Amino acid sequence: MKTKIFLLIILCLLLTACSSAPDEYAQDFFAMDTFMSITAYGGNAEDGVKSAMRRISELELKLSVTNKNSELYAINRGEVGEDTAELVKFALDIADRTGGALDPTIYPVLRAWGFTTDEYRVPSPEEISALLENVGHERVKVDGNTISTDEGMMLDLGAVAKGYAGDETERILRENGVTSALINLGGNIQLVGSKPDGTDWRLGVKDPAGDGNIGVLTVSDCAVVTSGSYERYFTADGKVYCHIIDPSSGYPADNGLLSVTIVADEGRLCDALSTALFVMGEERALEFWRENKNFDVILITDNAEVLITEGIADKFQLDGSHKNLKVVTVN
Ligand code: ADP
Ligand code: MG
Repeated sequence: MKTKIFLLIILCLLLTACSSAPDEYAQDFFAMDTFMSITAYGGNAEDGVKSAMRRISELELKLSVTNKNSELYAINRGEVGEDTAELVKFALDIADRTGGALDPTIYPVLRAWGFTTDEYRVPSPEEISALLENVGHERVKVDGNTISTDEGMMLDLGAVAKGYAGDETERILRENGVTSALINLGGNIQLVGSKPDGTDWRLGVKDPAGDGNIGVLTVSDCAVVTSGSYERYFTADGKVYCHIIDPSSGYPADNGLLSVTIVADEGRLCDALSTALFVMGEERALEFWRENKNFDVILITDNAEVLITEGIADKFQLDGSHKNLKVVTVN
């Protein structure tokens, strides 16, 4: 029995590692607490995928808030590496621009809700307001590579780390001559070029209220990242609490959105904004889009609407089984 399972595992590894075309290389792996896969075509696809995987492991070690050996673990004042400093600066900038909807210092509150350990609980209002004393992106200082926060604060890059890993993967693949690739980092999608046959990639847009997809997005050469309440949540007293916290209240975001998908050039921007716009809710999210327009967005609301900004409206096709959803183009 053991041998059989062993052979099966070897077979699966062979199947995923050696793909058909000579210039194609695909690999599935687990990192940053999620399943990832990279399929690359052209150039030194195999070398590219392997060094991207090494880079992702390296980033995982550096960036995790829970890993005692990471650069961010319990930092109150200290020097960090180039990557960490850059990503902290990026997260702080987006925090600023989104009025604190994204806040990389939300961790003490997130932890109290049990989202870091899966031991879920509803903290008392007093506990939440006490913990919010230790939240505030504007109190983090970055001077070169030295980061300082107030005592009791913690930095969590969970909302942007996978996006950054996607950007790094894309860079490494391109450096290896890869001309076409589908990078899937736990649902964060990043596309290099178009499909090897020159046509656009077809990505499923997940149904946030059930299994399967509500439709297909046909795009190339961009990043596509979704944040949704369905990804991690728990139910207590009939109420659903999700893993994205509204920093203005300390409670899980709950404002009528089921999911937010961002389409833009950079993975890190998509990742940061998918979380931030999920916190903002429909009205503020669309206002933010109108003020910036350096990205596109799909909002799925709890009253069965799919709101799509004009840049990608004609690239989305609703699935026949979801005709109950009302698709609205936003401009
Ligand atoms: P996922 O990582 O599940 O794909 P997100 O990119 O939306 O989803 O990131 C959610 C993670 O970001 C949470 O698990 C938590 O670590 C962190 N987080 C939750 N709320 C916020 C917030 N308002 N600002 C910044 N980070 C947050
Ligand atoms: Mg995010």
